[in-house]
Amino acid sequence: MNTDKNFKLYIDGKWVNSASRVTFPSDNPAHPKQILGVFQKGNEDDANRAVEAAEKAFEKWSQTPAPKRGLILLRAAQLLRENKEKLAREMTMEMGKVLAEARGDVQEAIDMTEYMAGEGRRLFGFTTPSELRKKFCMTVRLPVGICGLITPWNFPMAIPSWKIMSALICGNSVVFKPSSDTPLCATRLVETLETAGLPKGVLNMVTGPGDAVGMTIVKHEKVRAVSFTGHRDTGNAILQAAGLKRVGLEMGGKNGIIVMDDADLDLALDGVIWGGYGTTGQRCTAASRVIVHEKVKDEFESKLVSRIKKLRLGDGLKADTDVGPLVNKAAQDKSRRYVEIGKRESAKLVIGGKVPKMDGFFFEPTLFTDCSVDMRVCQEEIFGPVVCLIPVGDFDEAIDVMNAIEYGLSSAIYTRDVNRAFEAFMRMEAGITYINSSTIGAEVHLPFGGIKHTGIGTREGGIEGINEFSETKTVFVDYSGKLQKAQIDID
Ligand code: NDP
Repeated sequence: MNTDKNFKLYIDGKWVNSASRVTFPSDNPAHPKQILGVFQKGNEDDANRAVEAAEKAFEKWSQTPAPKRGLILLRAAQLLRENKEKLAREMTMEMGKVLAEARGDVQEAIDMTEYMAGEGRRLFGFTTPSELRKKFCMTVRLPVGICGLITPWNFPMAIPSWKIMSALICGNSVVFKPSSDTPLCATRLVETLETAGLPKGVLNMVTGPGDAVGMTIVKHEKVRAVSFTGHRDTGNAILQAAGLKRVGLEMGGKNGIIVMDDADLDLALDGVIWGGYGTTGQRCTAASRVIVHEKVKDEFESKLVSRIKKLRLGDGLKADTDVGPLVNKAAQDKSRRYVEIGKRESAKLVIGGKVPKMDGFFFEPTLFTDCSVDMRVCQEEIFGPVVCLIPVGDFDEAIDVMNAIEYGLSSAIYTRDVNRAFEAFMRMEAGITYINSSTIGAEVHLPFGGIKHTGIGTREGGIEGINEFSETKTVFVDYSGKLQKAQIDID
């Protein structure tokens, strides 16, 4: 356990300094002078030590009955629940999301930990008839081995939990490399599992830069699986470098909401405000494009502008704040840069677009209208509070615009027409579709992930999380007492 503001790496059940002897601070994006803690800038040697510790711990942990592994997770879930408010407040201070959303993030970690604890009593394989007499066929699940888990900052407890809990319940040992923007949240999660009784070496955490720590884990030949969530370019580099191992990638998005002419416009407005400006637009599932039928465009736009005017920017700990800061200066610069790009592309800036005169990395909630789908602001992930309105003439055009992007994570449509709703979810190119709801709202027992440049086919959550972190072995038991040949002895 870390007792002061000098935080350590967690390797082989001990809190230790980095071999680099260098540290880095984690600050509060609403008040950048407020330092929350000092963290170890891990390096290649630390990552290698963590893999060695995971290797030593693997055999015993993988042979621990899965229901017993589940009990440790259940204790961890209980501890997270007891500390929920404190953890949520620290999260708001470390990455800026408003307190209610930070509570949701911690709750998601609790949910996932409980869910995976229960999986310890399932981890189902299946049995099936053989094509031959007196032959029995079944599958069993086995752990993959050492898993390298690399996570972003925007869901600093939820996303690590999706990966860590799934990997642990399947009997894997883990090397965890959290985002350098949220090392405190990551440390709290690891401390929780330590307190819950996780044996030493089963989970190791190395904070520090992605290219040093992350890449060492990715390339390490003893690491059997890498699971990454983050930017598309980082994911692509990881895929190229990983070599012959399992790779799970959850990457960016440019998600859209379609608002049809028969939609409940007030409901759709709620969805756009929540999807576009919640977490200051810094969600992989953020609704950064609103594809609106031209018959309702003017009414919808004017209502949307009045709603945006009412959004209050501020410190996420304050009860009256609707939108917190961006995570850091680079994110603020990126939003500012994209506003300039949008203006140059002749997108119409109707509200926002500026850095307000406030301490911290704030950015005004911004709306561009009269956009066309090929504009860069409608194609590239901005990861800030910038929403683009794209008018369309009919349903088919709306679907075409929805799909005319490289990403494929989340999508939504507001309509009262059930036929259209069905057609939309069949035709929209995305891993997730919401009907009459925003692009946001993952639940831990359902698959989560995207297609196209968002992902390469893996999904997290529920049984898919178990699939990501377990190997399926097929077992044949021949009890006929003679040699039977499949496909040959068929009569
Ligand atoms: P990054 O890709 O910058 O970082 C993600 C993680 O990768 C961090 O831990 C980072 O470390 C690490 N990393 C950076 N470079 C390397 C490298 N060369 N090798 C190995 N690891 C590396 O993403 P962000 O943290 O900025 O997160 C935002 C992105 O994540 C957005 O694109 C968003 O859409 C996406 N995302 C996707 C989700 C999904 O499920 N599809 C969910 C949430 C976010 P360090 O912090 O030290 O740089």
